Amino acid sequence: MPRNTAPGPRLRAVLDSIPGYRPTEGIYAAVPARPLSANESPHDPLPGLIAAIAAAGDAVNRYPDPESAELTRAIARRYGIDPDRVLVGAGSVSLLQAILQAVAEPGAEVVHPWRSFELYPVLAELAGIRSVPVPLTRGRNDLHALADRITDATRLVLVCNPNNPTGTVLGLPELKEFLARVPATCLVVIDEAYFEYVRDEAACSGIALLDAHPNLVVTRTFSKAYGLAGLRVGYLLGAPHSVGQLRKVRLAYSVSTVAQQAALAALRLEDELLRHVDATVAERARMRDALLAGGFDVPDSQGNFLWLPLGDASAAFGDLCTSAGIAVRTYAHEGVRVSVGSAQDNDAFLTVATRERSTVCTPQ
Ligand SMILES: *Cc1c(COP(=O)(O)O)cnc(C)c1O
Repeated sequence: MPRNTAPGPRLRAVLDSIPGYRPTEGIYAAVPARPLSANESPHDPLPGLIAAIAAAGDAVNRYPDPESAELTRAIARRYGIDPDRVLVGAGSVSLLQAILQAVAEPGAEVVHPWRSFELYPVLAELAGIRSVPVPLTRGRNDLHALADRITDATRLVLVCNPNNPTGTVLGLPELKEFLARVPATCLVVIDEAYFEYVRDEAACSGIALLDAHPNLVVTRTFSKAYGLAGLRVGYLLGAPHSVGQLRKVRLAYSVSTVAQQAALAALRLEDELLRHVDATVAERARMRDALLAGGFDVPDSQGNFLWLPLGDASAAFGDLCTSAGIAVRTYAHEGVRVSVGSAQDNDAFLTVATRERSTVCTPQ
Protein backbone atom coordinates (compact mmCIF):
# COMPACT_ATOMS: atom_id res chain seq x y z
CA MET A 1 0.00 0.00 0.00
CA PRO A 2 1.44 3.45 -0.85
CA ARG A 3 2.47 5.36 2.20
CA ASN A 4 0.45 8.43 2.95
CA THR A 5 2.86 11.37 2.66
CA ALA A 6 0.24 14.08 3.17
CA PRO A 7 0.58 16.06 6.40
CA GLY A 8 -2.92 15.35 7.70
CA PRO A 9 -5.14 12.35 8.26
CA ARG A 10 -5.51 9.88 5.44
CA LEU A 11 -8.60 10.71 3.40
CA ARG A 12 -9.82 9.24 0.12
CA ALA A 13 -7.21 9.69 -2.62
CA VAL A 14 -9.92 10.77 -5.06
CA LEU A 15 -10.21 14.05 -3.14
CA ASP A 16 -6.74 15.05 -4.40
CA SER A 17 -7.98 14.87 -7.98
CA ILE A 18 -11.16 16.88 -7.46
CA PRO A 19 -10.79 20.63 -7.89
CA GLY A 20 -12.81 22.29 -5.11
CA TYR A 21 -15.75 24.39 -6.28
CA ARG A 22 -14.60 27.93 -6.94
CA PRO A 23 -17.32 30.56 -7.08
CA THR A 24 -16.82 33.14 -9.81
CA GLU A 25 -14.51 35.90 -8.67
CA GLY A 26 -16.11 39.04 -7.33
CA ILE A 27 -19.57 37.63 -6.60
CA TYR A 28 -19.17 37.70 -2.83
CA ALA A 29 -16.84 40.72 -2.72
CA ALA A 30 -17.56 43.91 -0.77
CA VAL A 31 -18.67 45.58 -4.00
CA PRO A 32 -20.17 42.60 -5.77
CA ALA A 33 -19.79 42.24 -9.50
CA ARG A 34 -22.85 42.29 -11.73
CA PRO A 35 -24.01 38.71 -11.21
CA LEU A 36 -24.19 37.10 -14.66
CA SER A 37 -22.33 33.90 -13.77
CA ALA A 38 -24.75 31.67 -11.86
CA ASN A 39 -27.98 31.69 -13.91
CA GLU A 40 -30.01 33.08 -11.01
CA SER A 41 -33.30 34.92 -11.37
CA PRO A 42 -32.62 38.68 -11.45
CA HIS A 43 -36.09 39.43 -10.06
CA ASP A 44 -36.53 40.45 -6.44
CA PRO A 45 -38.54 37.91 -4.44
CA LEU A 46 -42.28 38.64 -4.57
CA PRO A 47 -43.80 40.08 -1.37
CA GLY A 48 -45.92 36.94 -0.93
CA LEU A 49 -42.77 34.86 -0.98
CA ILE A 50 -41.02 37.02 1.59
CA ALA A 51 -44.12 36.82 3.83
CA ALA A 52 -44.10 33.02 3.66
CA ILE A 53 -40.40 32.93 4.49
CA ALA A 54 -40.88 35.27 7.45
CA ALA A 55 -43.85 33.27 8.76
CA ALA A 56 -41.84 30.05 8.58
CA GLY A 57 -39.35 31.64 10.96
CA ASP A 58 -41.80 31.03 13.81
CA ALA A 59 -41.08 27.32 13.70
CA VAL A 60 -37.32 27.12 13.39
CA ASN A 61 -36.88 25.64 16.86
CA ARG A 62 -38.51 22.51 15.39
CA TYR A 63 -37.08 20.11 12.84
CA PRO A 64 -38.62 20.38 9.39
CA ASP A 65 -41.03 17.77 8.06
CA PRO A 66 -38.49 15.17 6.87
CA GLU A 67 -40.82 14.08 4.06
CA SER A 68 -41.74 17.60 2.87
CA ALA A 69 -45.20 16.06 2.65
CA GLU A 70 -47.24 19.17 1.88
CA LEU A 71 -44.79 20.34 -0.77
CA THR A 72 -44.59 16.84 -2.26
CA ARG A 73 -48.38 16.78 -2.59
CA ALA A 74 -48.43 20.27 -4.13
CA ILE A 75 -45.83 19.28 -6.75
CA ALA A 76 -47.74 16.06 -7.48
CA ARG A 77 -50.93 18.08 -8.04
CA ARG A 78 -49.00 20.51 -10.25
CA TYR A 79 -48.09 17.64 -12.59
CA GLY A 80 -51.24 15.56 -12.12
CA ILE A 81 -49.36 12.56 -10.73
CA ASP A 82 -49.38 10.60 -7.46
CA PRO A 83 -47.22 11.91 -4.58
CA ASP A 84 -45.30 8.63 -4.48
CA ARG A 85 -43.71 9.68 -7.76
CA VAL A 86 -42.24 12.90 -6.31
CA LEU A 87 -39.15 13.38 -4.15
CA VAL A 88 -38.12 16.77 -2.75
CA GLY A 89 -34.49 17.54 -1.92
CA ALA A 90 -32.17 20.34 -0.82
CA GLY A 91 -31.60 21.58 -4.36
CA SER A 92 -31.67 19.28 -7.36
CA VAL A 93 -27.92 18.87 -6.93
CA SER A 94 -28.49 17.03 -3.65
CA LEU A 95 -30.93 14.74 -5.47
CA LEU A 96 -28.33 14.09 -8.17
CA GLN A 97 -25.92 13.20 -5.38
CA ALA A 98 -28.48 10.80 -3.90
CA ILE A 99 -29.02 9.21 -7.32
CA LEU A 100 -25.28 8.67 -7.79
CA GLN A 101 -25.01 7.14 -4.33
CA ALA A 102 -27.94 4.88 -5.14
CA VAL A 103 -26.20 3.42 -8.20
CA ALA A 104 -22.67 3.37 -6.74
CA GLU A 105 -21.68 -0.27 -6.68
CA PRO A 106 -18.02 -1.24 -7.22
CA GLY A 107 -17.26 -1.00 -10.94
CA ALA A 108 -20.33 1.10 -11.74
CA GLU A 109 -20.10 3.73 -14.45
CA VAL A 110 -22.12 6.84 -15.26
CA VAL A 111 -22.31 8.09 -18.84
CA HIS A 112 -22.90 11.83 -19.20
CA PRO A 113 -22.55 14.57 -21.81
CA TRP A 114 -19.55 16.88 -21.78
CA ARG A 115 -19.29 19.89 -21.84
CA SER A 116 -22.23 19.95 -19.48
CA PHE A 117 -22.99 20.71 -15.83
CA GLU A 118 -19.65 20.69 -14.08
CA LEU A 119 -20.88 18.80 -11.04
CA TYR A 120 -21.70 15.59 -12.96
CA PRO A 121 -18.15 14.17 -12.98
CA VAL A 122 -17.44 15.53 -9.49
CA LEU A 123 -20.50 13.89 -7.92
CA ALA A 124 -19.65 10.66 -9.76
CA GLU A 125 -16.08 10.57 -8.46
CA LEU A 126 -17.25 11.40 -4.93
CA ALA A 127 -19.69 8.50 -5.08
CA GLY A 128 -16.86 6.23 -6.24
CA ILE A 129 -18.30 5.78 -9.72
CA ARG A 130 -16.30 6.04 -12.92
CA SER A 131 -17.51 8.97 -14.98
CA VAL A 132 -17.67 8.46 -18.75
CA PRO A 133 -17.90 11.87 -20.46
CA VAL A 134 -19.31 11.87 -24.00
CA PRO A 135 -18.56 14.94 -26.17
CA LEU A 136 -21.39 17.14 -27.38
CA THR A 137 -22.08 17.29 -31.11
CA ARG A 138 -22.57 20.89 -32.31
CA GLY A 139 -23.22 21.92 -28.72
CA ARG A 140 -25.96 19.33 -28.20
CA ASN A 141 -26.21 16.22 -26.02
CA ASP A 142 -25.43 13.45 -28.53
CA LEU A 143 -27.98 10.80 -27.58
CA HIS A 144 -26.63 8.28 -30.11
CA ALA A 145 -23.12 8.63 -28.70
CA LEU A 146 -24.43 8.42 -25.12
CA ALA A 147 -26.31 5.21 -25.92
CA ASP A 148 -23.25 3.80 -27.73
CA ARG A 149 -21.21 4.13 -24.54
CA ILE A 150 -23.57 2.06 -22.39
CA THR A 151 -21.98 -1.20 -21.22
CA ASP A 152 -22.87 -3.81 -18.59
CA ALA A 153 -21.15 -1.54 -16.07
CA THR A 154 -23.34 1.48 -16.86
CA ARG A 155 -25.81 2.13 -14.05
CA LEU A 156 -26.82 5.64 -15.00
CA VAL A 157 -27.01 7.90 -18.04
CA LEU A 158 -27.34 11.60 -17.33
CA VAL A 159 -28.91 13.94 -19.88
CA CYS A 160 -29.07 17.73 -19.49
CA ASN A 161 -32.03 19.35 -21.26
CA PRO A 162 -31.57 22.25 -21.97
CA ASN A 163 -27.85 21.66 -21.76
CA ASN A 164 -25.86 23.86 -19.40
CA PRO A 165 -23.80 25.75 -20.70
CA THR A 166 -24.71 25.52 -24.40
CA GLY A 167 -28.50 26.00 -24.04
CA THR A 168 -29.44 23.36 -26.64
CA VAL A 169 -32.57 21.19 -26.30
CA LEU A 170 -33.67 17.68 -27.24
CA GLY A 171 -36.87 16.71 -29.03
CA LEU A 172 -39.39 13.90 -28.65
CA PRO A 173 -38.28 11.59 -31.50
CA GLU A 174 -34.65 11.51 -30.39
CA LEU A 175 -35.53 11.08 -26.70
CA LYS A 176 -37.90 8.23 -27.54
CA GLU A 177 -35.34 6.50 -29.73
CA PHE A 178 -32.69 6.94 -27.03
CA LEU A 179 -34.88 5.56 -24.24
CA ALA A 180 -35.75 2.57 -26.40
CA ARG A 181 -32.01 1.78 -26.65
CA VAL A 182 -31.22 2.06 -22.91
CA PRO A 183 -31.56 -1.25 -21.04
CA ALA A 184 -34.45 -1.21 -18.56
CA THR A 185 -31.92 -1.95 -15.79
CA CYS A 186 -30.03 1.30 -16.42
CA LEU A 187 -31.35 4.48 -14.83
CA VAL A 188 -31.74 7.57 -17.04
CA VAL A 189 -31.85 11.00 -15.39
CA ILE A 190 -32.88 14.06 -17.39
CA ASP A 191 -31.79 17.24 -15.62
CA GLU A 192 -34.36 19.90 -16.53
CA ALA A 193 -33.12 22.73 -14.30
CA TYR A 194 -33.92 25.25 -17.06
CA PHE A 195 -36.98 23.76 -18.70
CA GLU A 196 -39.29 26.66 -17.73
CA TYR A 197 -37.27 28.90 -20.08
CA VAL A 198 -37.77 26.66 -23.12
CA ARG A 199 -39.79 28.20 -25.96
CA ASP A 200 -38.67 25.92 -28.81
CA GLU A 201 -41.77 23.89 -29.63
CA ALA A 202 -39.68 20.95 -30.80
CA ALA A 203 -38.22 20.53 -27.30
CA CYS A 204 -39.62 17.73 -25.17
CA SER A 205 -39.69 17.31 -21.40
CA GLY A 206 -38.91 13.87 -20.03
CA ILE A 207 -42.03 14.22 -17.89
CA ALA A 208 -44.08 13.23 -20.95
CA LEU A 209 -42.13 9.95 -21.10
CA LEU A 210 -42.21 8.92 -17.44
CA ASP A 211 -45.23 6.63 -17.78
CA ALA A 212 -43.65 4.62 -20.58
CA HIS A 213 -40.20 4.35 -18.95
CA PRO A 214 -39.98 3.22 -15.31
CA ASN A 215 -36.16 3.64 -15.47
CA LEU A 216 -36.52 7.39 -16.17
CA VAL A 217 -36.19 10.15 -13.56
CA VAL A 218 -36.55 13.89 -14.26
CA THR A 219 -35.02 16.51 -11.95
CA ARG A 220 -36.25 20.09 -11.64
CA THR A 221 -35.49 22.95 -9.31
CA PHE A 222 -36.91 26.02 -7.60
CA SER A 223 -33.49 27.69 -7.93
CA LYS A 224 -33.80 29.24 -11.38
CA ALA A 225 -37.25 30.07 -12.77
CA TYR A 226 -38.85 30.22 -9.31
CA GLY A 227 -36.14 32.47 -7.90
CA LEU A 228 -35.28 30.44 -4.79
CA ALA A 229 -31.58 29.71 -5.39
CA GLY A 230 -30.73 30.93 -1.89
CA LEU A 231 -33.03 28.44 -0.18
CA ARG A 232 -31.96 25.16 -1.84
CA VAL A 233 -35.01 23.21 -2.92
CA GLY A 234 -35.49 20.96 -5.93
CA TYR A 235 -37.39 17.79 -6.78
CA LEU A 236 -37.40 14.73 -8.94
CA LEU A 237 -40.21 12.84 -10.64
CA GLY A 238 -40.04 9.15 -11.45
CA ALA A 239 -41.62 5.75 -11.05
CA PRO A 240 -42.81 4.91 -7.50
CA HIS A 241 -40.20 2.16 -7.09
CA SER A 242 -37.18 4.36 -7.97
CA VAL A 243 -38.58 7.27 -5.98
CA GLY A 244 -39.11 5.02 -2.95
CA GLN A 245 -35.54 3.71 -3.11
CA LEU A 246 -34.07 7.19 -3.62
CA ARG A 247 -36.08 8.43 -0.64
CA LYS A 248 -33.95 6.13 1.55
CA VAL A 249 -30.72 7.66 0.21
CA ARG A 250 -31.72 11.31 0.45
CA LEU A 251 -30.67 12.88 3.72
CA ALA A 252 -33.81 13.27 5.86
CA TYR A 253 -34.39 16.75 7.33
CA SER A 254 -32.16 18.37 4.67
CA VAL A 255 -34.92 20.61 3.27
CA SER A 256 -35.57 23.31 5.85
CA THR A 257 -39.04 24.44 6.90
CA VAL A 258 -38.28 27.85 5.41
CA ALA A 259 -37.39 26.27 2.07
CA GLN A 260 -40.50 24.06 2.10
CA GLN A 261 -42.80 26.99 2.88
CA ALA A 262 -41.12 29.22 0.29
CA ALA A 263 -41.48 26.55 -2.41
CA LEU A 264 -45.18 26.14 -1.52
CA ALA A 265 -45.61 29.90 -1.81
CA ALA A 266 -43.75 29.88 -5.14
CA LEU A 267 -46.24 27.32 -6.48
CA ARG A 268 -49.14 29.48 -5.31
CA LEU A 269 -47.51 32.50 -7.02
CA GLU A 270 -46.52 30.50 -10.07
CA ASP A 271 -48.39 32.61 -12.64
CA GLU A 272 -46.56 35.73 -11.56
CA LEU A 273 -43.20 33.95 -11.40
CA LEU A 274 -43.68 32.55 -14.88
CA ARG A 275 -44.25 36.11 -16.10
CA HIS A 276 -40.77 36.86 -14.76
CA VAL A 277 -39.58 33.92 -16.84
CA ASP A 278 -41.28 35.45 -19.90
CA ALA A 279 -39.40 38.69 -19.24
CA THR A 280 -36.11 36.78 -19.06
CA VAL A 281 -36.93 34.99 -22.31
CA ALA A 282 -37.53 38.39 -23.98
CA GLU A 283 -34.22 39.67 -22.59
CA ARG A 284 -32.50 36.55 -23.88
CA ALA A 285 -33.66 37.39 -27.42
CA ARG A 286 -32.67 41.03 -27.06
CA MET A 287 -29.18 40.12 -25.83
CA ARG A 288 -28.66 37.50 -28.50
CA ASP A 289 -29.73 39.88 -31.28
CA ALA A 290 -27.35 42.55 -30.01
CA LEU A 291 -24.47 40.08 -29.81
CA LEU A 292 -25.18 38.69 -33.29
CA ALA A 293 -25.30 42.25 -34.63
CA GLY A 294 -21.97 42.83 -32.88
CA GLY A 295 -20.41 39.97 -34.82
CA PHE A 296 -20.47 37.24 -32.15
CA ASP A 297 -21.36 33.65 -32.84
CA VAL A 298 -24.26 32.97 -30.42
CA PRO A 299 -26.08 29.65 -30.72
CA ASP A 300 -29.80 29.68 -29.92
CA SER A 301 -30.16 29.07 -26.17
CA GLN A 302 -33.28 27.82 -24.43
CA GLY A 303 -31.93 28.46 -20.91
CA ASN A 304 -31.64 31.73 -18.97
CA PHE A 305 -28.09 32.14 -20.31
CA LEU A 306 -26.22 32.51 -23.59
CA TRP A 307 -23.16 30.59 -24.76
CA LEU A 308 -20.34 32.33 -26.57
CA PRO A 309 -18.07 29.71 -28.14
CA LEU A 310 -14.93 31.86 -28.09
CA GLY A 311 -12.40 29.02 -28.02
CA ASP A 312 -8.91 30.17 -27.05
CA ALA A 313 -10.13 33.74 -26.61
CA SER A 314 -12.50 32.72 -23.79
CA ALA A 315 -10.16 33.43 -20.87
CA ALA A 316 -9.20 36.86 -22.24
CA PHE A 317 -12.85 37.77 -22.78
CA GLY A 318 -13.79 36.50 -19.32
CA ASP A 319 -11.01 38.63 -17.80
CA LEU A 320 -12.25 41.70 -19.67
CA CYS A 321 -15.72 41.16 -18.22
CA THR A 322 -14.31 40.67 -14.71
CA SER A 323 -12.30 43.87 -14.89
CA ALA A 324 -15.44 45.69 -16.03
CA GLY A 325 -17.19 44.43 -12.87
CA ILE A 326 -19.27 41.79 -14.63
CA ALA A 327 -19.14 38.19 -13.42
CA VAL A 328 -19.52 35.60 -16.19
CA ARG A 329 -18.61 31.92 -16.32
CA THR A 330 -15.45 31.18 -18.28
CA TYR A 331 -14.62 27.73 -19.65
CA ALA A 332 -11.00 28.10 -20.76
CA HIS A 333 -10.43 27.25 -24.46
CA GLU A 334 -14.14 26.55 -24.90
CA GLY A 335 -16.39 29.51 -24.31
CA VAL A 336 -18.04 31.95 -21.94
CA ARG A 337 -21.51 31.55 -20.47
CA VAL A 338 -23.39 34.71 -19.59
CA SER A 339 -26.62 34.64 -17.60
CA VAL A 340 -29.60 36.67 -18.73
CA GLY A 341 -29.87 39.07 -15.81
CA SER A 342 -31.53 42.43 -15.19
CA ALA A 343 -31.78 44.78 -18.19
CA GLN A 344 -29.15 47.08 -16.64
CA ASP A 345 -26.67 44.26 -16.05
CA ASN A 346 -27.30 42.86 -19.51
CA ASP A 347 -26.69 46.32 -21.02
CA ALA A 348 -23.43 46.63 -19.10
CA PHE A 349 -22.36 43.28 -20.50
CA LEU A 350 -23.39 44.18 -24.05
CA THR A 351 -21.40 47.41 -23.84
CA VAL A 352 -18.24 45.53 -22.85
CA ALA A 353 -18.84 42.73 -25.35
CA THR A 354 -19.36 44.98 -28.36
CA ARG A 355 -16.42 47.18 -27.34
CA GLU A 356 -14.08 44.23 -26.97
CA ARG A 357 -15.30 42.16 -29.87
CA SER A 358 -12.32 42.89 -32.10
CA THR A 359 -9.91 41.80 -29.37
CA VAL A 360 -11.50 38.35 -29.00
CA CYS A 361 -13.08 37.46 -32.34
CA THR A 362 -10.69 36.93 -35.20
CA PRO A 363 -12.16 38.10 -38.51
CA GLN A 364 -13.38 35.22 -40.69
C1 LIG B 1 -28.40 25.30 -11.69
C2 LIG B 1 -28.44 23.87 -12.07
C3 LIG B 1 -29.04 22.94 -11.24
C4 LIG B 1 -29.77 23.40 -10.01
O1 LIG B 1 -29.21 23.05 -8.87
P1 LIG B 1 -29.97 23.31 -7.50
O2 LIG B 1 -29.21 22.42 -6.59
O3 LIG B 1 -31.38 22.88 -7.66
O4 LIG B 1 -29.83 24.75 -7.19
C5 LIG B 1 -29.11 21.62 -11.64
N1 LIG B 1 -28.63 21.24 -12.82
C6 LIG B 1 -28.06 22.12 -13.66
C7 LIG B 1 -27.60 21.66 -15.00
C8 LIG B 1 -27.94 23.45 -13.30
O5 LIG B 1 -27.35 24.31 -14.13
